Amino acid sequence: MSPPNLIIIFADDLGYGDLSSFGHPTIKTPNLDRMAAEGQKWTNFYVGASVCTPSRAALLTGRLPIRSGMSSNKNRVLFPDSKHGLPSSEITLAEQLKNADYTTACIGKWHLGHKEEYLPLQHGFDYYFGIPYSNDMDIPQALLTEKGGYWEVVRDPKNNRIENFQVPLLQNNTEIERPANQNNITKRYTEETLKFIQKNRDKPFFIYLAHNLPHIPLFASEETLGKSSRGLYGDVVEEIDLGVGRILQTLKEEGLDKNTLVVFTSDNGPWLAFNEQGGSSGLLKAGKGTTWEGGIRVPTIFWYPEKIIPGVVDQIGSTMDLFHTFSNLAGVPLPKDRILDSYDLTPLLFHKQKGVREELFYYRGTELYAVRLGDFKAHFITQGEYGQFGPKVIQNPPLLYNLNHDPSEQYDIAEKYPEVIEKIKKVVEVHQDQMLAGEDQLKSRGSE
Ligand code: MG
Repeated sequence: MSPPNLIIIFADDLGYGDLSSFGHPTIKTPNLDRMAAEGQKWTNFYVGASVCTPSRAALLTGRLPIRSGMSSNKNRVLFPDSKHGLPSSEITLAEQLKNADYTTACIGKWHLGHKEEYLPLQHGFDYYFGIPYSNDMDIPQALLTEKGGYWEVVRDPKNNRIENFQVPLLQNNTEIERPANQNNITKRYTEETLKFIQKNRDKPFFIYLAHNLPHIPLFASEETLGKSSRGLYGDVVEEIDLGVGRILQTLKEEGLDKNTLVVFTSDNGPWLAFNEQGGSSGLLKAGKGTTWEGGIRVPTIFWYPEKIIPGVVDQIGSTMDLFHTFSNLAGVPLPKDRILDSYDLTPLLFHKQKGVREELFYYRGTELYAVRLGDFKAHFITQGEYGQFGPKVIQNPPLLYNLNHDPSEQYDIAEKYPEVIEKIKKVVEVHQDQMLAGEDQLKSRGSE
């Protein structure tokens, strides 16, 4: 039998609490809920970083972004005047799957370097259609000056017009539209995905569909605009859900549903600084940009009818694990010349065995802020984001939480469990001794 088709649907800044199957009271996501009911809903699934660029690098390389140089203390993400991107020496999931003759597409937000040498086609993808960075970028200077800066422009819904965000839309390496018409961007990404599935139905394919939304500024097409009782943010999430429904339906119609693994997740937590325009991390603390759970734990669903054992999985998983898992499914050996931070999830997906991932490292830029080991998480440094949840604080002794008892990180139990802190400190020591940080790819911008 040929290896399965592989699809990742990646939302941007969608919070842990933003799907109805993850507890949202008014956002309706019937297609994702059905996907969760037929497949597996993962409640302890994480990303490699709590902001866009490093999180995407982690997913595609199976490595902590510090290793590839895709995290930085100077610029947390890439900007339209950034000079660099994901180094060609990194092996992406697309390049890895090319070894098993997969046809590969990246549809949507890239954010790993917008210059041609860094674009998806130069990183193992056969096809690209999308905005190469965040949808809130390229604001005209005149508008920024008139309104008083970035936050003033983006926070005011009256400025939410496509011409205020002059982001390009690319097809392969060519710009085809600028500003990208964001009113229907989610719909167009879905349609591109359907076309790619139909065109490549006879051979294994890998699709990395990375929606630009619900990252601000929010846009929805006529089909969903004004429909959700959650307001515009709900409209946007419901449009993504509608797209998921169409993708699953097309897989069925093409007879591919029994041989396709679909993973749905988000790149980081909700951007809480945008209040009602941002999402919700549900019962988790804080959001995007932080190393609290709300920044880095994301709603995740695996779907592969008749193969996956349906249920709720509370073992630890990470987007970085998709590299190992997909390599296994495609029958491609892992690269031996580098350190990966990737575990095979197939025993959990197909055999109901216990997970193998015990630890998680929570970085902010290139600094290690917190570590999870089993049920426990120690914070060595804490910091809020954009004026919320406090300034940078070195925690000595570290804060300690049992995430299974206390997912909201409310009750510090460090005094009660000094031996757990010692154990985590030893894990940190080994991790840091072996860490070889890549050269910072995010620091150079503009005329610097
Ligand atoms: Mg994001």
